Amino acid sequence: MNKIGVLTSGGDAPGMNAAVRAVVRKALHEGLEVVGIKRGYSGVIEGDFITLDRSSVSDIIQRGGTFLRSARCEEFRTKEGRKRAAKKLREEGIEGLVVIGGDGSFTGAKLLNEETGIKTIGVPATIDNDIACTDDSIGYDTAMNTIIDAITKIRDTASSHERAFVIEAMGRHAGFLTLAAGLAGGAESILVPEIDFEMDEVCEKIQHDYEEGKIHSIVLVAEGVELGNVEFETNRNPDESPAFLIGREINERTGFETRVTILGHIQRGGAPTGRDRLLASRLGASAVDQLLAGKSNKMVGLIHNTVKVAPIEEAIESNKELNEEVYKLANILT
Ligand code: ADP
Repeated sequence: MNKIGVLTSGGDAPGMNAAVRAVVRKALHEGLEVVGIKRGYSGVIEGDFITLDRSSVSDIIQRGGTFLRSARCEEFRTKEGRKRAAKKLREEGIEGLVVIGGDGSFTGAKLLNEETGIKTIGVPATIDNDIACTDDSIGYDTAMNTIIDAITKIRDTASSHERAFVIEAMGRHAGFLTLAAGLAGGAESILVPEIDFEMDEVCEKIQHDYEEGKIHSIVLVAEGVELGNVEFETNRNPDESPAFLIGREINERTGFETRVTILGHIQRGGAPTGRDRLLASRLGASAVDQLLAGKSNKMVGLIHNTVKVAPIEEAIESNKELNEEVYKLANILT
């Protein structure tokens, strides 16, 4: 193998730049040429390529976002689109591709390999941390710290005004980010999609804490929280975020003045933490090792602080389970 490509795809995550840097520098160290592909799979199809040398990845390890840009590409979902992509890669002499992204991007990588023979290795990067075969994905630690920081700030104002705050965190249909940030940030209640809850319990806790002298309460809600089985006394507007309904309900039932904060995209931004930079550096370099070893259709992950390689389909298909022990602990500690 003489030349490889690297791209970032799907939702951006802090630490993607550090991963690209690791891919480039490790590949150059091994005597490979590296091509950066702009805007994910769209850039593959359009041949939006740039040659990357050591200095082109200088000064990016500390930056959030991705300098290669990311995109969602509908055309790549079609067989025809992937055929065009493979043609462009072959014309450029790219034999292997490192795909830094989430499970959608990995599905694309898997199909590209199976249909065209282009070798692909996935590097897990998503703040949601919902990818199996790795303890953590790149960006998760930074986003968790951003949420903890927000909880800390909101707690100051919540206690000054004796208010309840409902804060909504990202994570799509998974609760990993919310659970970790809720426990580490000391949220009084944590509501995640994987675990059923009752509004009665949430409100009783707020009431009970107040009677015990606690003058504020923070309820951290995952954006994908399941509301289907929860009984509400107030009406639900189908377009509103779950946090607004939960906030209104708390206000109705407890009389506590309630405020809602949707953290939104600030959770995707910011300089990656040391932990994310370390993870990105190790996984980016390992992806190059895999290509050099002739491997394809794999994902590199970190399990118990050791780099592990898994079939990419295992990463896509396995359901990563929320740690219920951590959830129970959060309930005990808050
Ligand atoms: P993420 O990688 O963060 O999960 P997406 O699910 O948006 O993000 O996927 C990113 C891109 O990967 C999509 O825009 C598309 O180009 C490609 N992709 C996603 N799912 C598939 C699929 N089932 N088949 C082929 N390509 C896919």
